[in-house]
Amino acid sequence: MQDVIVVGAGPAGNNAALSLASKGYGVTVIDSRENIGDKLCTGLVGEECFLRYPIDPSLVYREINSARVISPSSELVRFETPTTVARVVDRVAYVSSFADKATAAGADYLLGSRVISLEQRPDRVVVTTDGSSGSDTLEARALVLAAGFGSQLNRQLGLGEPSDYVVGTQALVKTEGVEEVEVYLGRDIAPGFFAWLVPTRPGYALAGLLVRKNAKDRLANFISARMTEGKITETADKPTCWGIPLRPLNKTYTDRVLVVGDAAGQVKPTTGGGIFYSLLSSEIASGALQQALRKDQLSANRLGVYQKEWKNLLSNELEVGYSARRAFEYLSDSHIGSLINQAGSNGFVAELANSPDVSFDWHSSMIGKIMGHPTLGGVLKLVNPLLARMAKVPESAEVFASEAAMAETGTSV
Ligand SMILES: Cc1cc2nc3c(=O)[nH]c(=O)nc-3n(C[C@H](O)[C@H](O)[C@H](O)COP(=O)(O)OP(=O)(O)OC[C@H]3O[C@@H](n4cnc5c(N)ncnc54)[C@H](O)[C@@H]3O)c2cc1C
Repeated sequence: MQDVIVVGAGPAGNNAALSLASKGYGVTVIDSRENIGDKLCTGLVGEECFLRYPIDPSLVYREINSARVISPSSELVRFETPTTVARVVDRVAYVSSFADKATAAGADYLLGSRVISLEQRPDRVVVTTDGSSGSDTLEARALVLAAGFGSQLNRQLGLGEPSDYVVGTQALVKTEGVEEVEVYLGRDIAPGFFAWLVPTRPGYALAGLLVRKNAKDRLANFISARMTEGKITETADKPTCWGIPLRPLNKTYTDRVLVVGDAAGQVKPTTGGGIFYSLLSSEIASGALQQALRKDQLSANRLGVYQKEWKNLLSNELEVGYSARRAFEYLSDSHIGSLINQAGSNGFVAELANSPDVSFDWHSSMIGKIMGHPTLGGVLKLVNPLLARMAKVPESAEVFASEAAMAETGTSV
């Protein structure tokens, strides 16, 4: 019997496996994909993430120290920071690099094998898999569930689903003259959220958007508008969609099991970025698990320390970020236009860009700064009282899960 089975070889699962295997625990990582890390993602990571979890510089497409924000009426505000704040990385290579290190530390990988059921017994967890060579059963003392968004396994354990989510959709495109990250706002483009062009290799960018409904059509419209402008010359692959949780699970632990990453809803609700928080949370999970394994005390009671620790680190960010996100969703195009106008014209953009409070990964200070601003905060406070009435979540993540699974294989949402 293994010490730990990790379900999911994304950033969360690989990093948990790496930490545990490095401490001498026997770990098996199971993933239904053959190609590690090959999940829909833009590969933007903040500088803090890059420094804490480095990547070979040859796998970095771009260093980011500027961005253009385009308002619903096509006005442009340009942000420029004195130093690099983020990098666009080769996501597959980045995620695989964690798996390579975990393998070198002694972890086993079982790829192309889907976990179809989990059973918690008093002294072990039993996992049933289904792969090309048929079904199999594996056992471990504990399990890390890092199966990403929309996993049925959360429900099997009685842990439910994150209660709100958004759909992300993206395609690789060929571009002309797109050298900076471009963010597009407006109800016609991505109501309540945003669209992006993120340059990767020379002449290429990832074009995508976050939206609650009609992801496929909205991305087609966005790409077509950029083609008319001459920025996109052609699409280089088929658009795909996947869900992003906007709220964490209420409970991320149970007997012998910890849930990490997107499966636990540990994602920035402002932008949908989840790589850094997944890595941080998996490190916390691994620490909690090591103590529990050492003492052979793996009950939910003992493992609850994991949730306490990750919440200490992330809860404020997730809560403030979610409130800001919901406030943003109720801004009209004219509100957004006036915010962008104000921010661009009164030096606030430069102030933000140079402020130590502003970080790619920690948004609560920046949100506090915006809310405290006499004009910008005023517009948002006008909208905020509406939140209590309007903070109804549109559909359950549960219903979305099966749609999302189809979508990533190319079917529409
Ligand atoms: C369009 C889009 C763009 C994004 N861009 C960014 C970005 O630029 N920066 C950023 O930080 N975040 C971004 N994200 C979010 C980011 O991709 C996720 O937060 C991150 O991948 C979460 O990591 P994870 O390890 O929790 O899950 P995942 O990366 O989803 O990994 C889960 C793994 O579990 C496997 N799995 C699932 N079910 C099973 C099963 N039953 N059996 C076996 N294996 C299973 C899957 O195959 C997968 O490999 C983006 C998301 C989307 C949709």
